[in-house]
Amino acid sequence: MTEMTELQKNLQRLLPCAQLRFDEPMNRHTSFRIGGPVEVMAFPKSREELSALLKTSALMDVKPVILGAGTNILAPDSGLSGLVICLKDCMDGMERLDDTRIRVMAGVTMTRAAMFAAGLGLSGMEFAHGIPGSVGGGVYMNAGAYGGEIGGICESVEIMDMAGNISIRDNAGMEFSYRHSCLEEEEGIVISAVFRLEPKPVEEIREKMKLLQEKRSASQPLNFPSAGSAFKRPVGGFAAALIDQAGLKGFRVGGAGISEKHAGFAVNLGGATASDVRELLRQVSDRVYENSGIRLEPEIRIW
Ligand SMILES: Cc1cc2nc3c(=O)[nH]c(=O)nc-3n(C[C@H](O)[C@H](O)[C@H](O)COP(=O)(O)OP(=O)(O)OC[C@H]3O[C@@H](n4cnc5c(N)ncnc54)[C@H](O)[C@@H]3O)c2cc1C
Repeated sequence: MTEMTELQKNLQRLLPCAQLRFDEPMNRHTSFRIGGPVEVMAFPKSREELSALLKTSALMDVKPVILGAGTNILAPDSGLSGLVICLKDCMDGMERLDDTRIRVMAGVTMTRAAMFAAGLGLSGMEFAHGIPGSVGGGVYMNAGAYGGEIGGICESVEIMDMAGNISIRDNAGMEFSYRHSCLEEEEGIVISAVFRLEPKPVEEIREKMKLLQEKRSASQPLNFPSAGSAFKRPVGGFAAALIDQAGLKGFRVGGAGISEKHAGFAVNLGGATASDVRELLRQVSDRVYENSGIRLEPEIRIW
């Protein structure tokens, strides 16, 4: 057995009730199924537990990294030293506030939130059904699909700063834009979000969700691990079309490849490493640039 690190010993001593895992493989927590061991992964179940974790890590001068459902992340093969705080399924809970609004905790998946809204006869979250991330991750990067996005329905967000203090930010304050919110520049953890929706018949909402799910299954390589769209939509084009036009469908680096089904997806074809994926994204971006003059930027967060 390997000896415990100082961080592992200190966190265990200072937070005896916290759910902590040591040397936890990231590949168990990323949709790419890639990533080496994390020194400490913590699973706080409440605001109080999260606040205690943040305060304790600040005392030790450790800056934690926040993980949602891991569906937009490429984690390093060598793993990560320090603390990763995983919120998926931890910060759990959903409630109806009034005729049009629901509050959803950050760790709930967007699909579950969309199903909850549908069951209440509230329309507006249909686009989120099928996005595999958590509400926290969705707010962080203003997730969207089929003409809808989180910024379009989000009334306010409850945010915890790294000192454990909570504040409420309204929609304008979140500075939502294409796959972006202010949280990318500022430090802050999404605790919950309030969504403003529109009453509609339940069957109509469910039918729309079904149609969007069918569209997703027909066009996306859901049978291979991936992190969704590999590149952001560039000004003046669509990443998938540009990659296809450069003849890169099926292009491979090691175990990573551009999907034959949807050129916008980089997939793990089996045994891909983070270096394979990084090199694939680099070569694809260069070849698309040579072919079209348009530079593709990764949408996947590379840790
Ligand atoms: C098959 C597939 C299909 C996809 N389709 C879509 C799609 O249609 N549209 C779309 O927009 N995306 C799509 N994605 C990408 C992904 O699901 C979204 O980007 C999602 O919003 C990421 O959420 P997550 O919880 O997985 O975040 P993670 O991948 O865990 O994290 C992403 C970033 O968010 C930060 N973060 C996570 N939770 C919090 C929090 N509570 N507070 C603060 N920061 C946080 C992390 O630190 C990280 O920087 C798809 C992915 C896959 C695998």
